[in-house]
Amino acid sequence: MLKVNAFLGPSKPTLLECFEMNVIAPMLWPSFSWISIPIVLCALTFGSSVDLTVASRSFDASPPVIHVLGTVQDGGSPHIGCDRICCRNLFLRPALDRQVVSLGLVDGESQSSFLFEATPDLPAQWNQLQKLTGGEISIPSGIFLTHAHMGHYSGLMHLGREAMGAQGVPVYAMPRMTQFLKENGPWSQLVELSNVVLMPLANEEAVHISSRLQVVPIEVPHRDEFSETVGYRIVGPNRSVLFIPDINKWDSWNRDLAAELRQVDRAYLDATFYDAAEVGYRDMSEIPHPFMVETMDCLQNLPEKERSKVHFIHMNHTNPCLDESSAAYREVRERGYHIAKFGDSFTL
Ligand SMILES: [Zn+2]
Ligand SMILES: [Zn+2]
Ligand SMILES: [Zn+2]
Repeated sequence: MLKVNAFLGPSKPTLLECFEMNVIAPMLWPSFSWISIPIVLCALTFGSSVDLTVASRSFDASPPVIHVLGTVQDGGSPHIGCDRICCRNLFLRPALDRQVVSLGLVDGESQSSFLFEATPDLPAQWNQLQKLTGGEISIPSGIFLTHAHMGHYSGLMHLGREAMGAQGVPVYAMPRMTQFLKENGPWSQLVELSNVVLMPLANEEAVHISSRLQVVPIEVPHRDEFSETVGYRIVGPNRSVLFIPDINKWDSWNRDLAAELRQVDRAYLDATFYDAAEVGYRDMSEIPHPFMVETMDCLQNLPEKERSKVHFIHMNHTNPCLDESSAAYREVRERGYHIAKFGDSFTL
């Protein structure tokens, strides 16, 4: 059994960290009564934590698993310059589950892991993915990029000379995206120094990343200043997932969303904005994303089984669905859809 799919969420302390919490922290704290808190915390945490030693021993032939490593729009949350209620408290107390949109894929049989997107939160997401392999894989076998907007590729900077100085990390990208990375600094330096190796993709041509895993890039309409934009269909031995974090309106796509949904078992779809109220009642047709209410309306006549495949992702910092207690969140659930959550996993 691949035990590593028990996602840790906000990371739990290691034995060493617990030791440090118990021994060092009390020395810093003024009151002796505080000492008992970390001891209790560690006891509670270890009761339910994943034993990474066991996980690494059991890295085996279980089906591959998709993990949600981030759900937020490019600008993150808290969002620069935002002093509204959505972000104010997050500057004071950052939330570990507010990471920019990304999926991780772990395949025990081929001993491989993959990232979808290289976000500004790449260091934490890379670390989380490593934990999900029981520490077995320190460097992902590949990174799939959707397009050249900051939330989706700028994390590549961490692979360069100033940070990791990685060697030969395969980066899968479409032709314009590949050209953009090759021809523009600082990304071109990653290519010249072989920190990354560009793996060209072609629209709708499946890439076999292991004997039982395929990734199919599917072009979608978007604000394509620097690159084209793709979503991905990730096909496993038993189930498959559609991932479209950014797209213009569904009716500007040359494909039918309902038909695409029928082909997969789960779909992570663009949820940048919830409704017109969120964007100050601007004309929704002017905003180049499908609002969540529009996506829900578009699929509302489908059977419950189809609607329940939809997991909304890529939420702007203002999106009320980032808050589970909001009326919008309840509405989405009542209509039979889901909101992707950091730490969710789905077996393929
Ligand atoms: Zn985006
Ligand atoms: Zn905000
Ligand atoms: Zn974008």
